[in-house]
Amino acid sequence: MSDIKYKLLKDIFGHNSFRELQEEGVDAIMQNQDLLMILPTGGGKSLVYQLPTLLKNGISIVISPLIALMQDQVASLKAQNLSADMISSAQSSTEVSEVLSKARRGELKFLYLSPERLNTEWTLEFLKSLNINFFVIDEAHCISQWGHEFRDDYRALSNLKKHFPHTSICAFTATSTEHVKYDIINNLNLQNPVLLKGKIFRKNIFISAQRRLQNGYAQLEDFLSRHKNESGIIYASSRKKVEALCEYLVDNGYKALPYHAGLSQKTREENFKDFVNDKANIMVATIAFGMGIDKSDIRFVVHMSLPKTQENYYQEIGRAGRDGEDSEVLLLFNAGDIAQHKRFLDEVQNSEYKENQLSKINNIYKFATSEICFHKQLAEYFNDTLEPCKDRCDNCLDGDAKKQDITKEVQMLLSTIYKTNQSFGKNYIIDVLRGSKEQKILANEADKLSVYGIGTHISKKEWFVILERVMELNILTLGDFSVLKLTNDAVDILKGKKLVDIRASRLQISIKEKKVKQVTEFDYDEELFEALREKRSELASEMGVPAYLIFSDKTLKHLANDKPYDKVSMLKVNGVGEKKYEQFGEEFLEVIN
Ligand code: ADP
Repeated sequence: MSDIKYKLLKDIFGHNSFRELQEEGVDAIMQNQDLLMILPTGGGKSLVYQLPTLLKNGISIVISPLIALMQDQVASLKAQNLSADMISSAQSSTEVSEVLSKARRGELKFLYLSPERLNTEWTLEFLKSLNINFFVIDEAHCISQWGHEFRDDYRALSNLKKHFPHTSICAFTATSTEHVKYDIINNLNLQNPVLLKGKIFRKNIFISAQRRLQNGYAQLEDFLSRHKNESGIIYASSRKKVEALCEYLVDNGYKALPYHAGLSQKTREENFKDFVNDKANIMVATIAFGMGIDKSDIRFVVHMSLPKTQENYYQEIGRAGRDGEDSEVLLLFNAGDIAQHKRFLDEVQNSEYKENQLSKINNIYKFATSEICFHKQLAEYFNDTLEPCKDRCDNCLDGDAKKQDITKEVQMLLSTIYKTNQSFGKNYIIDVLRGSKEQKILANEADKLSVYGIGTHISKKEWFVILERVMELNILTLGDFSVLKLTNDAVDILKGKKLVDIRASRLQISIKEKKVKQVTEFDYDEELFEALREKRSELASEMGVPAYLIFSDKTLKHLANDKPYDKVSMLKVNGVGEKKYEQFGEEFLEVIN
């Protein structure tokens, strides 16, 4: 079978070689074993069950949590001329009957089902009448209450083995905490499953985190200036923030669209489509957006505030760079975000859950503020090991950055808080330090204090950074109404017994230049690349499919580099298989020639 395996890989899927663990997964499925495969987003999980399906006689049943996800997968398979269909609540009963008839007649290789559909007596009986190759449980972490996307309907999947004791089950997920792994194996009753766990490390994603200054818009624009016209997602924490940011971006000439649960279903669908089809390149969204998005050329993901957990964060940044091309993610945060998450938890009754969430919130804050390699931290969080990435995150690039002593400035800050009786918040304290003539300051006669105006040599933005550093070191805490309070450490610093330092680069956020290293870049003819992209757009519009389903950006770059001149030379390009060549080969060759 091995020759056929490689032939299908190239002819049908267009890939020259298997990626890490794909071949082992395919082999396990071919030997009818149960399988749990944990591979990061973009690792290439779909191929692991799609390829064996083509080698087997029957139909593969894929359980997937989201209609959008199923639609994408079905569209993608159909684009490769493979027979696939789905059954979900989104279809009329006539459409469903047609799909069922096709399955009955043995005309389908893939049938996608939502978990609630599967869980009916009728469906189970129907499935028993088919020649099933194996079951695929996609996004299998949804079965675990410890996962971050628990789905009640997934619970019913625990009966699958009882109904189909001789059919293997293959579970796929990108989430790999031990707890979730254990739940998947147990809840699905997997029998001696083959366990394949890929490296957490997403080498093509460059990670950085910055303290958010005010609303973070200036930092965001600095970031976006490196990603002109590229596809990206910006996550904001509330519907209001999504709307405000989206409006700001549109006013400033960006092609951005909003996405959140407050919009009508129709608007959400339209915005989703326009984003997938490159009519708008930026999606500003709450976390309601993203699960199941299969757009492989997303070049950046920005979080405007701290996500709830590292699982969420990893999943959300995972949407960038599924095509393996260089991508960049930015996390903007400040200490206020963590306080906000904690406030939400105040109302939660279940104390075990609450404690678990609290520790997760503290962990993600530690992640963001730590000076350790971000990839390494993520790997360790998911029980993986990794050497520091060296050049794929800000912490590593800045690793040998100079520290700057800020004891004197911190003393000024603490004195000001002390002399104003620990009764004011950040803005007021900074205004006093910078000698503001605000009415409130003058009315309180703060201009008579010895500390008034002693901090004019430092910009307001930088005072905020110093404040963040001081909060991070627990020298200050926030009291009621966000009033700043001194801790015992503050006294030691005021007495000169303790020093405070900060990574120097943090004080120059506005002028800091980013040096994002490109790891997978190679030279290609950019003019030709643009022409190929245009051709791809034209074909995509004609066929009504997303552009990346025709060829990925990476394949186009290879074409623009290798400049194949006939079928044989074109088939050598990674990403071009027999099928794709038949459909599009000549049109692209024409552009190249
Ligand atoms: P996952 O489901 O693990 O997030 P996908 O199955 O969507 O990942 O695959 C991500 C991308 O990787 C897709 O664009 C796919 O075409 C590509 N891909 C998968 N396998 C290979 C391979 N062996 N070689 C090159 N590209 C691959």
